[in-house]
Amino acid sequence: MKKIGVLTSGGDSPGMNPAIRAVVRKAIYHDIEVYGIYGGYAGLISGEIEKLGLGSVGDIIHRGGTMLHSARCPEFKTKEGQQKGIEQLRARGIEGLVVIGGDGSYQGAKALTEQGYPCIGVPGTIDNDIPGTDVTIGFDTALNTVIDAVDKIRDTATSHERTFIIEVMGRDAGDIALCAGLAGGAETILIPEENYDINEITERLLKGQERGKKHSIIIVAEGVCSGVKFADELQKAANLETRVSVLGHIQRGGSPTAADRVLASRLGAKAVELLIEGKGGRAVGIENNELVDYDIVEALENKKHKLDLNLYKLSKELSI
Ligand code: ADP
Repeated sequence: MKKIGVLTSGGDSPGMNPAIRAVVRKAIYHDIEVYGIYGGYAGLISGEIEKLGLGSVGDIIHRGGTMLHSARCPEFKTKEGQQKGIEQLRARGIEGLVVIGGDGSYQGAKALTEQGYPCIGVPGTIDNDIPGTDVTIGFDTALNTVIDAVDKIRDTATSHERTFIIEVMGRDAGDIALCAGLAGGAETILIPEENYDINEITERLLKGQERGKKHSIIIVAEGVCSGVKFADELQKAANLETRVSVLGHIQRGGSPTAADRVLASRLGAKAVELLIEGKGGRAVGIENNELVDYDIVEALENKKHKLDLNLYKLSKELSI
């Protein structure tokens, strides 16, 4: 392989930049030309493609977001859109593509692979919900952003003896809520993977107050319900007054943590290694701190990301 492409797609995540840097530098180290595709699959279809040099990825290792920009592109869900993308790549002699992104972006990489174009999926999403890896690029940074906010809210919650509801990202996966809840010492954590019982929650909160707790922190993953809706529910169930804080998009930004930079560097370089070995159609990941790769079609069809529910149980035990 003499020419490869790289793009970032879907929701951006901190750590995409060090992943791009690793792809570019690893490829150039092996005398392979690298082309950056700007604006995800939309840029692939319209041919927003430029050659990247060593300097193009200088000074980005510590920056959040993605220098290649990202986009959502409904057209790429069609065969015609995918064919247009493949034509753009082939017209430039680009023989393989590294796709850094989440769930949807992996579906795009899978579609290209099924049409005979070699793609490698690199898991870049704050949601931590990609099959075939223990952790995704951006999760650690997002988690630290949430913890920073939780700690600050805890200060004011203690001063005013208040119950706070903090809504965090996670439509289908409760990873951010669960790990932030555990690391932030939340009294209650609501995740999409588990049903909640409002009576049990109010009982726990009241018991805590009785034994002198100065505040309570409740973390809600957006996929369960909005923080405001849950505040209403608590008010109706037990006349409990709460304050709501919705963290929103700050969770996507910020300088990637050291852990995310290391992960991004390892996974980006691994993707290039696979293309050099002529192995397309793979999804790279990390399991038990070892680099792994799986058939991307099989991974998406047969593997499921699983939340570690032992952590959920532990958080309940520790927040009594
Ligand atoms: P993320 O990658 O963060 O999960 P999205 O779900 O929005 O973000 O997906 C990003 C892009 O991937 C979509 O806008 C679309 O271009 C492409 N994509 C998503 N699903 C498919 C699919 N089933 N087939 C082909 N491309 C897809």
